[in-house]
Amino acid sequence: MASRAYKGVDSVVTVEGRSIGNGHFAVIAGPCSVESHSQIIDIAKSIDGSGAKFLRGGAFKPRTSPYDFQGLQGEGLELLRAAKKATGLPVVTEIMSVKQLEDYADIIDVIQIGARNMQNFDLLKAAGKINKPVLLKRGMSATIEEFLMASEYILAGGNQQVILCERGIRTFEKYTRNTLDLSAVPVIKRFSHLPVVIDPSHATGDARYVESMSLAAVAAGADGLMIEVHNNPEKAVSDGKQSLTPEAFRALMVKVEQIAEIT
Ligand code: PEP
Ligand code: MN
Repeated sequence: MASRAYKGVDSVVTVEGRSIGNGHFAVIAGPCSVESHSQIIDIAKSIDGSGAKFLRGGAFKPRTSPYDFQGLQGEGLELLRAAKKATGLPVVTEIMSVKQLEDYADIIDVIQIGARNMQNFDLLKAAGKINKPVLLKRGMSATIEEFLMASEYILAGGNQQVILCERGIRTFEKYTRNTLDLSAVPVIKRFSHLPVVIDPSHATGDARYVESMSLAAVAAGADGLMIEVHNNPEKAVSDGKQSLTPEAFRALMVKVEQIAEIT
């Protein structure tokens, strides 16, 4: 069902009048983690003013170490709702389990399934049964075929609102956190009708490389970008090093808008 043979025309996912795919380009931006009311409202307002179409922010955080900040959980979701109320930006946020999906899907606009859960088949099956868009991130060691097969679980369950997100894969290279596989864009577009967005923040792990990779992603034909933005990157509880300041994000959006048709 993810394949072009099944559906010839490109899919478009629309949330409250904001579309991704089939010619519609969208930028999703926000902090790695929701940290406080003032932090998320401040960032949401600034990215809204710069032209982002969706707000991202993690409330449930999949952290490598159990001793690192695990997210504000339910309270984080409430803060995301407050930020949506203040700006109108629909919210993209990660859920990590079937239980969280059951408890919280109603109050999230786009459900993110993270790289570490790309092959959590119970979660994929559950996501196939809901009537909400799902942003599925590529596992850091997953082939494109495995990625498309993971999306197939959601589609086969009946949910056709799937957005794919390339976020870098593991290679031997160490100057970047992961290696952005930009060729995933034309390859996926050859085989699938699903929209593809690029996350240069997690792919590079370094704010210095986010702009060039974002512009390259647009040139490669991506349907959107997911960018981490923080109002005080040095103090961010997670992923500060790869987070753009609101000013850098604004400058990036000016360049993106020159080459992408944002409709
Ligand atoms: C995220 O987007 O917050 C995230 C944890 O990314 P990934 O699953 O790609 O590592
Ligand atoms: Mn992050």
